Amino acid sequence: MQTALNVTPLGQHGLTLDDSEAASAANTEASRAAALAALSLPSAEQFFWGAITSGSLAHGYVLKGRNTAALYHLALTVAQIANCTARPQPPESFSGRLADLACGQCKACRWVMQNAHPAVLTISRLTYQIDDSKQHPELISSEALEKLANKANWPTQIKTGQVEVLIHQLSVSSDAVRVVIFTDAEELPATFPAAVTAPCEWRSLEATKDRAFHLRPLQRNLFNAASVNRFLKILEEPPPRTLFFFLAETEEQLLETVVSRCQVIPCTSKSGASDAEGVPHSAGYQDFLQDFTHRLTHAGDAFAWAADFESFFVQEHGLKLTQALEQLQHHLQVRWMTPTLQERDFTAYKAGQTAIDEALRMLASKTNESQTLLNLLLTLHQVFQIR
Ligand SMILES: [Zn+2]
Repeated sequence: MQTALNVTPLGQHGLTLDDSEAASAANTEASRAAALAALSLPSAEQFFWGAITSGSLAHGYVLKGRNTAALYHLALTVAQIANCTARPQPPESFSGRLADLACGQCKACRWVMQNAHPAVLTISRLTYQIDDSKQHPELISSEALEKLANKANWPTQIKTGQVEVLIHQLSVSSDAVRVVIFTDAEELPATFPAAVTAPCEWRSLEATKDRAFHLRPLQRNLFNAASVNRFLKILEEPPPRTLFFFLAETEEQLLETVVSRCQVIPCTSKSGASDAEGVPHSAGYQDFLQDFTHRLTHAGDAFAWAADFESFFVQEHGLKLTQALEQLQHHLQVRWMTPTLQERDFTAYKAGQTAIDEALRMLASKTNESQTLLNLLLTLHQVFQIR
């Protein structure tokens, strides 16, 4: 039974989430402010205010909306309130800011704000990795995790083993309220500032220093049937003091069996449907890149591609080649998110992004710019042509 709650927008509540520690240190103040300004979900915040103050929180929620960072932030705010050890007396009615239900200062509050609370688990492809080779899956060693991050060789699915570890972890008794957030995530160069603080496990890796952690909504292919089935029982009879959140754009991206065990909360951002998550946006370049990447997928003259690319970005628009490549990288990211799920090719996408990363590294070590660009375009041509 799916309980779809029609939460009407309030409009008059101009909310801002101002958890000062909630943004990564790598973010500039300006991009953080811009990201957080887009993160208000007034009606959903009011819904959770009501559920928490009346003691009627359910065990599982599908947070449905296009701004995944905002959904994540909402789940963290609920986690903070649930674990706050000095909860203030709530005002009579909704204050306009869900975070007012937590003190914001106790250790639990600070841990959640730093995304480092041991009871708050983010389950994505990038976090909470397990060793599949063992008979009983266990969390991989920090050295192995470091290797994985170095190679950016993350799995493309949330695996059964991960769910097994999660189930084991939830079976251990705890005083804290466990909050489990299922989401997808992707790492990008740090030049794309992230709108949320990455989970501490991911952040603490040496290899992720110059990478940013970006949230993506859950998609059907992220779970396999086995991992979901393993998980359904626990969703059906959750251990006490445990809350599950699934962050998705639509219910269709989740299995019906998951949705039917959760309450679906439609969440609309104050700014409408922004899902740009603070990625720098240069609309003026998009038309050129649209045409350019289309040309790359067909046979052509690599020298002409390179000359046109440099001419447009460097000569006409005064960008450095590295900045131009970052625009290309962003364009590929946006383009990858646009088509339907069946049409997306994660391998090609990842290979393209890796090739650009490599070119950026080469440029940083002062290699011949034209040659690096030429090699990159040939690689991209190979990656995209055969698809
Ligand atoms: Zn507190």
